[in-house]
Amino acid sequence: MKKISIIIPMYYEEEVAEECYSRLEKVLINLKNYEYEIIFVNDGSKDKTLEILTNIAKQNENVKVISFSRNFGHQAAVTAGLRFVTGDVVLIIDADLQDPPELLPEMLKLWEQGNEVIYGERKSREGESKFKLFTASMFYKTLNALSDVEIPKNTGDFRLVDRKVVDTINSMPEHNKFLRGLFSWVGYKQYAFKYERKERFAGETKYPLKKMLKLAADGIIGFSTKPLKILGGLGIISIIISFIILIYSLLSFAFKWNDLAPGWTSIMVSITFFAGVQLLAVWILSEYIARIYDESKQRPEYVIEQKINIK
Ligand code: UDP
Ligand code: MG
Repeated sequence: MKKISIIIPMYYEEEVAEECYSRLEKVLINLKNYEYEIIFVNDGSKDKTLEILTNIAKQNENVKVISFSRNFGHQAAVTAGLRFVTGDVVLIIDADLQDPPELLPEMLKLWEQGNEVIYGERKSREGESKFKLFTASMFYKTLNALSDVEIPKNTGDFRLVDRKVVDTINSMPEHNKFLRGLFSWVGYKQYAFKYERKERFAGETKYPLKKMLKLAADGIIGFSTKPLKILGGLGIISIIISFIILIYSLLSFAFKWNDLAPGWTSIMVSITFFAGVQLLAVWILSEYIARIYDESKQRPEYVIEQKINIK
């Protein structure tokens, strides 16, 4: 019998915890041919979340709880869940029921057909502010322009993944993980599963602007060193401007176009020229730093999916 593991991060979710469990459990007991485990990760909530989860775990031994000493963030909570899952296939889902658990059987079929990452792609998003939709769309545009890996837009962390993929992610020691980027980075057979995103069942979003910005920074900085390269471009532009000013001044002097104040040329040329030189120098340094940074993430250089005749 195959086993499915569910990972649910929880931060101040006392209002949704019970409902989340009961709706999931209904889906899970109806799955023929599957055993299941649910791993709730309490990300340092100080309300009744942990108490509720402990009670559920007492009644059902398939329910496991990991509780953090403080709030480490959604990505850290899911990362911890991934370390402890024992299933052949793993579902990552939010606690607030925005991603309907009832979609699981359909997603499992896609996994049985050989897909290894089935990521939820939002066809529509109910109950989310214009501001959130706009910032999210800007973020994915910027991210994909800068990053070397294609990161699908309109996706969150709602996805069903194969054990192999979980093992690969677990083998990466990098911190500040941007999971949806990594799940795309690993490759394998990916499937965009379209669904309607619902409104939060109860409570408020646990992703205020500050946390969204941190996530965006992790995504852009973790998947791209292009922002550093912009420095090189700026440096070159600045040096070109200094030459233009120099030529303009000389021509102006020769043909008496207008009277430039004495000293204007030398000041303008040296400011723009040396600003350019400095930006170029910073850019060269940053290229070295970028390489150190890439190494320090200790991401593997490749992921092998299959070996033939090799032990
Ligand atoms: N979450 C978490 N730690 C945090 C913030 C959020 O574990 O610091 C959990 C939260 O309980 C929920 C999921 O991450 O299960 C997604 O959060 P939320 O639904 O508030 O985000 P939104 O859907 O508004 O983007
Ligand atoms: Mg939500």
